[in-house]
Amino acid sequence: MMNCLVCKSGDMKPATESYFANLNNCYVIIENVPCYKCDQCGETVFSASVMERIDDILEHLEKVASKIFIVNYSSAA
Ligand SMILES: [Zn+2]
Repeated sequence: MMNCLVCKSGDMKPATESYFANLNNCYVIIENVPCYKCDQCGETVFSASVMERIDDILEHLEKVASKIFIVNYSSAA
């Protein structure tokens, strides 16, 4: 069981969260990103492997960038 680093009292439970990013010329919303969420204060934490995958997704999208992207974490490139 992981304790929340922010409020120190909550438990971090598996959840999904939308991830927002602002690239050079577009906004990206990645939906359903797996994370851990504090059951007390709502703080969310993404694991290192999830952050790596988010970086990959953003790098890919930046190459085909338009204005706004909304992608699903589990079905993104
Ligand atoms: Zn907390």
